[in-house]
Amino acid sequence: MQRIAVLPGDGIGTEVTAAARTVLDAVTRRHGIELAYDDFDWSCRRYLEHGAMMPDGGLEQLRPYDAILLGAVGWPGVPDHVSLWGLLIPIRRTFRQYVNLRPIRVFEGVGSPLRDAGAVDFVVVRENVEGEYSEIGGRFNRGFPDEMAVQESVFTRAGVSRIADYALTLARGRRSYLTWATKSNGIVHTMPFWDEVLAERAAAFPDVRTDREHIDALAAKLVLQPGRFDVIVASNLFGDILSDLAAAVAGSIGIAPSANLDPTRTFPSMFEPVHGSAPDIAGQGLANPVGAIWSAALMLEHLGHPAAAADVLRAVERSLADPAGRTRDLGGEADTAAAVRAVVGHLSGS
Ligand code: ATP
Ligand code: MG
Repeated sequence: MQRIAVLPGDGIGTEVTAAARTVLDAVTRRHGIELAYDDFDWSCRRYLEHGAMMPDGGLEQLRPYDAILLGAVGWPGVPDHVSLWGLLIPIRRTFRQYVNLRPIRVFEGVGSPLRDAGAVDFVVVRENVEGEYSEIGGRFNRGFPDEMAVQESVFTRAGVSRIADYALTLARGRRSYLTWATKSNGIVHTMPFWDEVLAERAAAFPDVRTDREHIDALAAKLVLQPGRFDVIVASNLFGDILSDLAAAVAGSIGIAPSANLDPTRTFPSMFEPVHGSAPDIAGQGLANPVGAIWSAALMLEHLGHPAAAADVLRAVERSLADPAGRTRDLGGEADTAAAVRAVVGHLSGS
């Protein structure tokens, strides 16, 4: 029996999490998998009532779980730094979720903004705990003509090696092609180091073909030829930018999933749709549940149930190919409940 901590969060987070639970119940029953769930009401709603997103000792409560399934947190009137620093960042950092995984696919029936996007199926692996988003640096000589701001990046051999190994291993299980983002022609200390460690690790995976691309050229290629990529690994900042670009390429933020992984499995990993709480459509039953359902499939995979994960993804693919399975953000007319029924109806149980 594996235990899941469910944090539905705010707005449509609660609606898409319930949708994902319905699909999980159906698929685990068919595949003979036992999962137990506990719900936590940690959210901006809780913050507005009690002054904190989560209770004291909240992280200790989460620690024994096998995985965390999150909806979305954020609400008008609650500053972003409250939901980020009061919940998401402590979970990612304390539980050493150093991989941020964003699979991207252009599904049949989902219009990509790109003409002729063709077959698109790649994964962005973003380094999630070091790199450009350090707190090292400062503002100097405020208000004087020689005022300046300094922001340091931190790349460690251990940190780059482990994200490289994760991405190379992932590529090996797919089409054995890894692209790594860099900018060593302009950033002359950290990026050459990143390149060096990546090349070293890649040498241990001779069966994986690798390409090194400068981030500017890579961004252009993602728009012009998204079909040529398999796994892309990038630093924290570059990965952040590529992930959003890639989700846009796929047609709607409503279908994009993500995983924050501790591949060592020392701590629980966290699975969440890319989208936010969408206050504009919250409470109306209109949210696209696919991002949350696909995130749940990533969770099944991480928990060691690849057949069930593949079953969910196949069901998503088939439901999106049918107009009756598409929500309004995809130009369809389905509400959340109809979209969930379509996915469940396409589960095969094998
Ligand atoms: P955050 O600040 O939490 O990142 P946001 O306000 O920037 O969130 P979202 O909450 O993701 O962004 O909403 C952006 C737009 O996309 C909104 O118009 C919202 O209605 C729409 N949207 C987001 N998720 C979905 C979904 N699952 N289904 C349908 N529409 C969605
Ligand atoms: Mg917002």
